Amino acid sequence: MKEVIRMINSTEVSVQEPAAVDNYVGGNWKAPRSGQRTPNRNPARKEEIVGFVPASDRDDLNDAVAAADSARMAWRKLSGAARGALLYKAADLLDSRTEAIARSMTREMGKTLNEAKGETARGAAILRYYAGEGMRPVGDVIPSTDPSALMYTTRKPLGVVGVISPWNFPVAIPVWKIAPALIYGNTVVWKPAVETAVTAALILTCFHEAGFPAGVVNMVIGDGAVIGQGIAEHPGIHGVTFTGSNAVGKQVGRTALERGAKYQLEMGGKNPIIVAADADLELAVEATISGGLRSTGQKCTATSRVIVVHEVYESFKEKLLAKVEGLRVGDGLKPDTWLGPCASAKQYDTVRRYIRKGVEEGAVLLAGGETAPADPALADGYFVAPTVFDRVSPTMTIAREEIFGPVLALIEARDLKEAIDLANDSEFGLSASLYTRDISSALTFIDEMDAGLVRINAETAGVELQAPFGGMKSSSSHSREQGQAAIEFFTSVKTVFVKP
Ligand code: NAD
Repeated sequence: MKEVIRMINSTEVSVQEPAAVDNYVGGNWKAPRSGQRTPNRNPARKEEIVGFVPASDRDDLNDAVAAADSARMAWRKLSGAARGALLYKAADLLDSRTEAIARSMTREMGKTLNEAKGETARGAAILRYYAGEGMRPVGDVIPSTDPSALMYTTRKPLGVVGVISPWNFPVAIPVWKIAPALIYGNTVVWKPAVETAVTAALILTCFHEAGFPAGVVNMVIGDGAVIGQGIAEHPGIHGVTFTGSNAVGKQVGRTALERGAKYQLEMGGKNPIIVAADADLELAVEATISGGLRSTGQKCTATSRVIVVHEVYESFKEKLLAKVEGLRVGDGLKPDTWLGPCASAKQYDTVRRYIRKGVEEGAVLLAGGETAPADPALADGYFVAPTVFDRVSPTMTIAREEIFGPVLALIEARDLKEAIDLANDSEFGLSASLYTRDISSALTFIDEMDAGLVRINAETAGVELQAPFGGMKSSSSHSREQGQAAIEFFTSVKTVFVKP
């Protein structure tokens, strides 16, 4: 761990040596029992190893659950203000280490340094938001039919919460789960994505140095099928919050349900932007590019289907292509890079497989494609040029399945009604947006679109930490994260009746 500690404390932004990462259990950094670690590589330069991360086993997980269990009664008996004070300290530490954390994120999963810094700042803001929650009212007084009695609701923590998080937002997502879990009195066992485990360790140093009591926050790094599934199965874990793919999420949900644990799943999307005939096309193009291609299309809320009404289809397409051609693909650490690599070999293969499928099924490739960008400087990374498909029919695979890469599918609609029908023709329902100047079109879309997040004249990707976030249909277990909605998952309501 000493390299990790040096990395976080370094003001030199060029620290490059691979860090050997440990688990964090009961307030201590601990090597995995097996002693095994695997290398994490920089997706922009495959030869560069960012760190060696634990390949933990179920015994490591058992240790973490035992530590979280022994800490939980003392933690829940602290006041919300006392718990909040520690979250404020963690926020300050995270803020002061933005540069090191952001660089680690960029080197591990490729997003641009600016985006990584923005995400780290958001992590600190989320911690502060939930720190404040420790002082806010909980519960209601409800009139009893017995006039002499007092009836009210209060909320109790679940106990030990398992957090399973993906690699695409290595700071924001785990923090928007861990912060509310802690403020409402739970202790945590966190399994970050292996791909971004060095960054996870940097986050943990902030909790460690903030002075959380031993066992309140624990981290176990390892394979999803071992540690993730282990969390879903573990009888000592009372609630499981998961963000990731649909296949894994459903498995986690089934396992938790089987043993009666509370669970929350936030999963994939196939998010549409609709461009109406009266849209401001310049703004709609900006939103399509930003929503679809930033972070290399690896946001759950990324725009994937671009549904354009017939009258403006050709002019929108022309403007879109002109802008896409100017996007600079490269190493996210370079200041002029707009679009980094895919996060891993697995993502790279998946994205290129979908592009191939699009061509095979008859969509017309207008930009990008399966072959790597021509720049020789990109030969050693998982780079895919921004890709635009024209004439995509709603039944094609690229119109139905989540790609999670820089690929836009243009779909033509006769009118707004057909556009909304097409947008709803999906198993997913995470986010959706409409570009229009017409208030009744906007209101129809808001009413009829089956998505947890609907946005008018704004891109599909855009989540505010103080507002509820989550999907409809297969995108979610229908729970909501963030804002005050988080209390619903991380606590249980207790109804109290007191007769003098
Ligand atoms: P993933 O499902 O492969 O992995 C997510 C987490 O689950 C990782 O920590 C992984 O190690 C773990 N895991 C893997 N196999 C497991 C198993 N058998 N049992 C338990 N845990 C296991 O997803 P990913 O590739 O890391 O992330 C991309 C996906 O996440 C996309 O589908 C994206 O849409 C989704 N996502 C959703 C949201 C949202 O809020 N809805 C946000 C970000 C990402």
